[in-house]
Amino acid sequence: MQEFDVCVIGAGFGGASVAALLAKSGKKVALVEKTARAGGKTQTTERKGYRFEMFGAVGIPAYNSRFHELVDTLGIAERAPFVVPDGDAASIRYLNKQGEWKVSYNPLMATGSEKEMTAMKETFGVTDTDLEALGAFYGEILSLDDAAINALDNTGAYDWMARFNMAEPLVSQVCMNLNTLFVVAVDRLPASEMIFALRDQVLGGAGRYHIGGYGHVAEVCADYVVEQGGLYLTKTRVQSILVEDGRAVGVRVDGRDIRARAVISNAGIQPTVLKLAGAEHFPSAYIERITALEPSWAICGFRYVLDKRIFDAALIPVFSDESWLNEERYQDMLNGKWPNVPLIAIDVPSEFDPGLSDIPGHQLANCQVFMPADTESKLVDEAIARCEAVIDELWPELKHHIVRKEPYGAKQISSMSRDVAVPGCGGEAVGIAQVVGQCGSSKPDARTPLPGLYIVGCDAGGRGAGTHQAVDSGFNVAAMVEQDLA
Ligand SMILES: Cc1cc2nc3c(=O)[nH]c(=O)nc-3n(C[C@H](O)[C@H](O)[C@H](O)COP(=O)(O)OP(=O)(O)OC[C@H]3O[C@@H](n4cnc5c(N)ncnc54)[C@H](O)[C@@H]3O)c2cc1C
Repeated sequence: MQEFDVCVIGAGFGGASVAALLAKSGKKVALVEKTARAGGKTQTTERKGYRFEMFGAVGIPAYNSRFHELVDTLGIAERAPFVVPDGDAASIRYLNKQGEWKVSYNPLMATGSEKEMTAMKETFGVTDTDLEALGAFYGEILSLDDAAINALDNTGAYDWMARFNMAEPLVSQVCMNLNTLFVVAVDRLPASEMIFALRDQVLGGAGRYHIGGYGHVAEVCADYVVEQGGLYLTKTRVQSILVEDGRAVGVRVDGRDIRARAVISNAGIQPTVLKLAGAEHFPSAYIERITALEPSWAICGFRYVLDKRIFDAALIPVFSDESWLNEERYQDMLNGKWPNVPLIAIDVPSEFDPGLSDIPGHQLANCQVFMPADTESKLVDEAIARCEAVIDELWPELKHHIVRKEPYGAKQISSMSRDVAVPGCGGEAVGIAQVVGQCGSSKPDARTPLPGLYIVGCDAGGRGAGTHQAVDSGFNVAAMVEQDLA
């Protein structure tokens, strides 16, 4: 039997970061991951000379992120270099009301230059007055302090935005961005989450990637645990959490026990509480709350390997005024009423790091649309077919240059991250949905009612978009556990 200070279940960005931070502070850490690599949903895999993420990922903010803080704190910045392409690496494909596709190119870090303003006017058909309204929206975001933003946990983002009377195409652009960042309906997203993320985006830019693949930072964090004298197991599933005398005291893997003073789970709050620990160890009101938590939507789409450069930017959203989703539009979509263009987010990892392909000039790209988190959802085929039809219209040449094409949806996301513990959940792209009632002060506490058991990652302990939220949680939960073990 092995004894540790801390056992971390899962090496997604939440698990890998909390494990490394606690190892740095002198704790003896065991990190147990069920798949072959660290990185969770943003794990980078390697196949036949190509490295790519199972599910596309680009970091927001690009600069001054929690990721920068993480690599600086651990002293691993040189082993996990960040990259943000120069020049106009972001592009937009916008279908206007007249049925014309408008295209613009921008830097990943917006500067507000005359050139960018002119591009916005041409792309969206808006006036200087419209841009002033957009400026007032972002000006207000930048003027609020953290306490004022925290106070907006129960205000919907779309309602908060309404007072700025922005022109419809600009509302579409902001809402498309929010759907992509949070993978929830914009009218249910709290204004607080929106403002924190857009403030980060304005001040820190939109697209950070990591040389060697997005998941590389998590891999280096996991290696760091071993370098500090800890244990890192891959391809090892935690079967259960050991509970003795009303306290979590370790985990069971492969028929043996790993004992620890604290257990931190990155396996998702529902699977952790309901399956790994067992509902019998928690108050019934807590079990009711956990069972009722709503998942973020899933994302489905395809990973492409192309034998030439088809996409001419690193980040390309494709949308119309009908594409962005509030709850009503999302329900319509579930009922078969689709927008003229499903909101498509394209990220192109090889535009960030050409070394991801052994063959120079080959392109790696990821085209993504939204679907329910339900691993049994029948929507995946339709969503992918509609996405493909738009891609075919915009890039007709693409189909002649496909080396590999790998479709995926909620089922694949679940297999790479969390088990299905509640019907309709498991394939969530982010974690529990960042909607009013589940965020900020209303988010589940990272300290569970079972002493010694903590949750890390996008289900508890952090704020922000996607992986940034997971690492934010890693920092916060490390401090919490440190304090409790002192
Ligand atoms: C298609 C797609 C696109 C996305 N795009 C972006 C993006 O561009 N930018 C961004 O920031 N975010 C993006 N996200 C969201 C982002 O990937 C997640 O928010 C984030 O990775 C979640 O991190 P996490 O630490 O909470 O958990 P996860 O990544 O879910 O990690 C959980 C880990 O726990 C392990 N695990 C689970 N159960 C067990 C067990 N019993 N035993 C051992 N190990 C276990 C899993 O294998 C996994 O490694 C995207 C997600 C998807 C699906």
